[in-house]
Amino acid sequence: MKSKVIVIGSGFSGLVAAASLAQKGFSVKLLEKNSSIGGRSRQFHDSGFTFDMGPSWYWMPEVFENTFSYFGHKASDFYELQRLDPSYVVKFEDGQFDVPADLNELKKKFDIIEKGSGEVLQKFLDEAAYKYKVGMEEFVWKPSHSVGEFIDPRIFSSVLKLDMLQSLSSVVRKKFKDSRIRRILEFPVLFLGATPWKIPAMYSLMNHADLSLGTWYPKGGMFEIVKALEKICIKEGVEIFVNSAVTSLHFSKNKITTVLSESGEYEADFVINSADYHHFEQNILPLEFRNYNERYWEKRVMAPSSLLYYVGLNKKIPGAVHHTLFFDEDFNRHAVEIYEKPDWPEKPLFYMCCPSATDESVAPTGHENLFFLIPIAPGLKDDKTKHEYYFNLILSRAEERIGFPIRKHIIYRRDFSLNDFSSDYNAFKGNAYGLANTLRQTAFFKPKMRNPKVSNLLNCGQLTVPGPGVPPSLISGRLAAMEAVKMLKN
Ligand SMILES: Cc1cc2nc3c(=O)[nH]c(=O)nc-3n(C[C@H](O)[C@H](O)[C@H](O)COP(=O)(O)OP(=O)(O)OC[C@H]3O[C@@H](n4cnc5c(N)ncnc54)[C@H](O)[C@@H]3O)c2cc1C
Repeated sequence: MKSKVIVIGSGFSGLVAAASLAQKGFSVKLLEKNSSIGGRSRQFHDSGFTFDMGPSWYWMPEVFENTFSYFGHKASDFYELQRLDPSYVVKFEDGQFDVPADLNELKKKFDIIEKGSGEVLQKFLDEAAYKYKVGMEEFVWKPSHSVGEFIDPRIFSSVLKLDMLQSLSSVVRKKFKDSRIRRILEFPVLFLGATPWKIPAMYSLMNHADLSLGTWYPKGGMFEIVKALEKICIKEGVEIFVNSAVTSLHFSKNKITTVLSESGEYEADFVINSADYHHFEQNILPLEFRNYNERYWEKRVMAPSSLLYYVGLNKKIPGAVHHTLFFDEDFNRHAVEIYEKPDWPEKPLFYMCCPSATDESVAPTGHENLFFLIPIAPGLKDDKTKHEYYFNLILSRAEERIGFPIRKHIIYRRDFSLNDFSSDYNAFKGNAYGLANTLRQTAFFKPKMRNPKVSNLLNCGQLTVPGPGVPPSLISGRLAAMEAVKMLKN
């Protein structure tokens, strides 16, 4: 008889773990709390608009290809990918910088604002390409059960070149003087939930992902990736149950035997948890089986949460681009308000996504689909009056910098913030992107996939290895499945 695997949570990591194990011949059931799958990458339709609820940047396309090829597919079997050009636009206090898709063009633009910086950029990106290669080939595929996995002459020989011991910010600041260039090169690591001065310079691999590999968009939106993985799950035989929040577990000694959920009880030979690690441990696992206590979690540096606005306009914005970063205020101050003295930010940086600039299918004809994101500290007390305040604040700045009266044309708005992250995803402190990738929270320092107290359980997803983001979550699901196969064989 086939071994029964229960996967908890249907974000990217859960979907990939489920499909991979079904492909290996296990009988897999996927239990999702919400009424639709996709986790933080869900989508909703309202008033003619289609909104992706979470991720909007499609980076590292080869990780997606690699995931699909494992199941005998290509991304193009499911969706049409388009490379964005400009990749994105950055609004500064005194103008804007369009980041072109073409690297030679970018180098020329850098040279204009800082003489010689184009060549320095090339060298910086060559180093970043090396780090990307080592990171993606050596590091991310390690389950990181122990430091022993990293005792390898090839890794040791590359440690210096990997820049593990200095921060990304210090490297960027040594090489470039212009504050706009610095901010462009420090931006990508924000995806990893940490500030450029707290994150090892190894993560300049994200600059390679950004400036060399490019920013892409799947036509129809990021949810197309979820739909593709759902098709693969179904083809491989995974049974998906929505409205099935897992509430508790039955054990026989140190082995889970049954998973209890809102939709019923499911027998289990093996369990993969991809729901937020903290929620699973603190609310579902009995005390004696927990890997970590509440004190441990309180000491973690969480990646930011977000205050999000999904907005529909009844008019097109002339010259709108897909991704616009508003870096027109002091980032250091905003970072202190996120990490050091958590508080609602005085003058936040924010991000505006306009997918309807690329894709007509996400808004009615002649309309615009906008998504605004303000990073905020996790654990703040959510408050609707704050939503109103910040909406007005960012709209004033967006209107001024873009030169278009956005307010006048708003016909749809939905807010999503800390309380929604907590209630919809059981997110610890309402976090959006899991744990910050600081050095002390990297690889074997992260919450472990394995739980030594339970013999048939693994964790995956953005709170464990390799970390936050869509590509790492896809990898996390595969890693968990590979580990599960080994454990099930023993
Ligand atoms: C606003 C936002 C913007 C982002 N932007 C980007 C981006 O542009 N590019 C990028 O690469 N990454 C981005 N990310 C990060 C990326 O979306 C995540 O890292 C990734 O989607 C996490 O996947 P996951 O599988 O770990 O978890 P999740 O997607 O959170 O999935 C976990 C699932 O578990 C379910 N669950 C919780 N409790 C239970 C329970 N008791 N029983 C059953 N199910 C349960 C949840 O409902 C959820 O569906 C963004 C994230 C957010 C929130």
